[in-house]
Amino acid sequence: MLRRAQWRAIVQHLESAYPEESCGLLLGTIRDAVGEVSAVHPTPNAWEPAAERRTRFLIAPEDFVRAVRYAEHNAWEVIGFFHSHPDHPPLLSDVDRALAWSAMAMLIVSVRAGRVAEARAWWLSEDGAFAEMLVRVQD
Ligand SMILES: [Zn+2]
Repeated sequence: MLRRAQWRAIVQHLESAYPEESCGLLLGTIRDAVGEVSAVHPTPNAWEPAAERRTRFLIAPEDFVRAVRYAEHNAWEVIGFFHSHPDHPPLLSDVDRALAWSAMAMLIVSVRAGRVAEARAWWLSEDGAFAEMLVRVQD
């Protein structure tokens, strides 16, 4: 579950990076595959070479560590990642499947012509199966 202001932060971050992919971390708590987002932590797309950033993204290790520290400081955890698919549907790509972390939400946001169009979230369970998560935005 996301607050409207958190969703707006994600939208702004991903639209401003268009036509490149962009990304970030979701901090909060997760229980029985239900995530409660307490903070959105946008990060730059650190993928190199930059020319490939329309289809690839990378969260730099230092950005990841910063997010973990911030989460721990607030008694949260990193509960997921988000990234955009510029002009593509919000479905798991082969790369997304290969790089997914278990017990973490993966929120994928389709950005079409610079505007967020659709979002879907996926969950990799400990047994290696992907399941779709409900994305709920609320005030
Ligand atoms: Zn992807």
